[in-house]
Amino acid sequence: MAEKSFKYVILGGGVAAGYAAREFAKHGVKLGEVALISKEAVAPYERPALSKAYLFPEGTARLPGFHVCVGSGGERLLPEWYMENGISLILSTEIVKADLASKTLTSSAGIKFKYQTLIIATGSTVLRLTDFGTPGADAKNIFYLREIDEADALVAAIKAKKNSKAVVVGGGYIGLELSAALRVNNIDVSMVFPEPWCMPRLFTAGIAAFYEGYYTNKGVNVIKGALVVGFETNENGEVKNVKLKDGRVLEADIVVVGVGAKPLTQLFKGQVEEDKGGIKTDAFFKTSVSDVYAVGDVATFPMKMYGDIRRVEHVDHARKSAEQAVKAIFASEEEKSVGEYEYLPFFYSRSFDLSWQFYGDNVGESVVFGDSSPTSSSHKFGSYWVKDGQVVGAFLESGSPEENKAIAKVAKVQPPADSLDKLATEGLTFASKV
Ligand code: FAD
Repeated sequence: MAEKSFKYVILGGGVAAGYAAREFAKHGVKLGEVALISKEAVAPYERPALSKAYLFPEGTARLPGFHVCVGSGGERLLPEWYMENGISLILSTEIVKADLASKTLTSSAGIKFKYQTLIIATGSTVLRLTDFGTPGADAKNIFYLREIDEADALVAAIKAKKNSKAVVVGGGYIGLELSAALRVNNIDVSMVFPEPWCMPRLFTAGIAAFYEGYYTNKGVNVIKGALVVGFETNENGEVKNVKLKDGRVLEADIVVVGVGAKPLTQLFKGQVEEDKGGIKTDAFFKTSVSDVYAVGDVATFPMKMYGDIRRVEHVDHARKSAEQAVKAIFASEEEKSVGEYEYLPFFYSRSFDLSWQFYGDNVGESVVFGDSSPTSSSHKFGSYWVKDGQVVGAFLESGSPEENKAIAKVAKVQPPADSLDKLATEGLTFASKV
């Protein structure tokens, strides 16, 4: 059986893996010291593009356009880059067994990869309706979106089915972005979710009201508080109807499901400490097993700002955690030290001509400021979250780069707030004074 040996192995080929590779190159690794092993067939890319420009009929994003690290304004790492930097890019290779005691990974083809130091960057996988036993969930033309081959399948369906009807299951950021992308493709879209308003993990009712109104005006049929309980198919096994718990039936040629994701920790079960569904790390992304690090979506790490531990499924953290881990690896080899990971949560999304950013923590009381009318041509609004008299979170729709910087500063500094009413009146002026 073939066996390969590397000093450092990055397991995964997504955002965190790509940014880790760049950080290794910055430290000047020797030829053949680093391997990046991915089950995907392409070099690491900026995953958020898949639910945005990748699906647009115009201004379409395609590889090699969005390989990492363009999403953060950095160099685009083409496959040649890995070669030039002595990093072995091992693609289309799924690791099916990990033995942390013997420092060995085994691929589905039986190849053994030995390492001295491992970075786990396996990310997340989507939750499937088949996992919940939803009848008919295995019908053709029911799509999920995590990797590029899934995006390609969705693009093919959009092209094959002109003037079609789509049902998007889920009202999180994937549901919102996909509903918009399908609508831009002139598809008749219904977005269905069980919660009372969209994006409930972040949005308050006030924020959600704007997006639901805006989507409705764009022709998206927003169906709230409704549970999908099954699918009916035609004679070819293609989805035809989506059945809701309240008895309604929606016609559909395409269904896209975005109901959440779970971290890919399975390979390491019982071998490494876990917490909050992820692999537990310290502030340097070191796990409970020596020489094993975990970064990106799979890591549950100390959130220094809030004095707790969290797992974060966002691209900004995937990038920064990967860089922190590689810096920590070199520091420990050189018997130096690096500072602890100091992360300010940052999430964003874009759809239609909308674009929002959020920084900090969405806890405590909240207030909306600005023009949040979905029919207004000059919509620009935001929200602050106040806990124990301090502003701990800030959200802004349609902000300029300077304004987004200002709300980020609010979340970082956590200034005191006299009253919610005053914050509502001052709006962005409050942020600009911090
Ligand atoms: P991933 O990028 O998922 O990479 C994991 C990699 O590991 C994949 O290449 C996978 O194939 C590989 N892998 C897994 N298991 C194995 C194995 N056993 N063997 C070999 N390879 C393996 N975040 C935002 O902040 N803003 C956004 O707008 C946004 N949009 C998104 C849109 C979409 C469609 C998706 C899916 C996610 C989006 N995210 C967004 C979330 C963000 O992309 C993730 O948080 C980020 O990609 C996590 O990086 P990661 O490297 O941990 O995981």
